[in-house]
Amino acid sequence: MVIDLHNDVMEKVVTGYELGTKHNYEDSDIPRFREGGIDIQFFALWIEQTQPNPFQLTEEMITSFRGEMAKNSAFIAQAATPEEALRINSEGKIAGVLGAEGGHAIENNLEKLRELYRQGVRYLTITWNNSTSWATSALDPQSMTKGLSDFGRQVVWTLDSLGMIIDVSHVGPKTIEDILQVTRNPIIASHSGVKALRNHYRNLSDSQIVKIARSGGVVGVVFHSSFLSNSNRASVDTVIKHIDYITRLVGVDYVALGSDFDGGIQPPIGLEDVSRYPAITDGLLNRGYSNKDIKKILGENFMRVFRRVCSKPTNL
Ligand SMILES: [Zn+2]
Repeated sequence: MVIDLHNDVMEKVVTGYELGTKHNYEDSDIPRFREGGIDIQFFALWIEQTQPNPFQLTEEMITSFRGEMAKNSAFIAQAATPEEALRINSEGKIAGVLGAEGGHAIENNLEKLRELYRQGVRYLTITWNNSTSWATSALDPQSMTKGLSDFGRQVVWTLDSLGMIIDVSHVGPKTIEDILQVTRNPIIASHSGVKALRNHYRNLSDSQIVKIARSGGVVGVVFHSSFLSNSNRASVDTVIKHIDYITRLVGVDYVALGSDFDGGIQPPIGLEDVSRYPAITDGLLNRGYSNKDIKKILGENFMRVFRRVCSKPTNL
């Protein structure tokens, strides 16, 4: 089973890009997902923070997503729970799950958050590169000292009670600390790298990786060259190095994949698009990983989080 925690192709779908057609440009489409062996794909809903109505635009993006699911229903279907995803997979189809990237989408309104949940959104990336009034981005100059507001704590409680996963990619260190004080669920970083290997604000320090692992969560290793490497073009081996670092720091149970394909990334050599996931398997085999551990990294680790957070009956 292969699960990817972060793909941005919906930004292109809203402007008319067709998921069902094989393209020789962009990173993702259904024919290439099938070549790559993807079983469960999380699709990010990201709205530019300068837009005055990000919630409405998020809903429009969901409508576009549903349209693509309907047009390509022989190959892909929306899932909102791990059980639904596995049922869809058992029919030979890809399960598509929604995640909202950036807390600004909820417009400081818990009812809008609940509405996203009802639409099947199953993670919220607490911030994108912009802070909100209730949470601080890793790019914010105050990221080390300013964390969640009281409303931000209410957002975390609401996410826990709904059964929506907390994603801390893009989120500032103090906000991550504050989230961990409040949530009772495992948390994820859906698309990040290791700061010790590449000192970049989008990457995670060793102590953050340890805390995510202690929560029972996972780090989805990103495929963006500039987050992975000091040179501007990473390779498959660079991705494997990030996976290997996390495995050695906290064990093999806390690492996953979060490509960020179609998020404006410079993909590593050998991982040019979503058809290339088998290169990760080959890279892990070459590094001596067992079949059992490779299965964990490719999907089972995240499945544990998905079951813990999203299996329970809804609370609406
Ligand atoms: Zn992102």
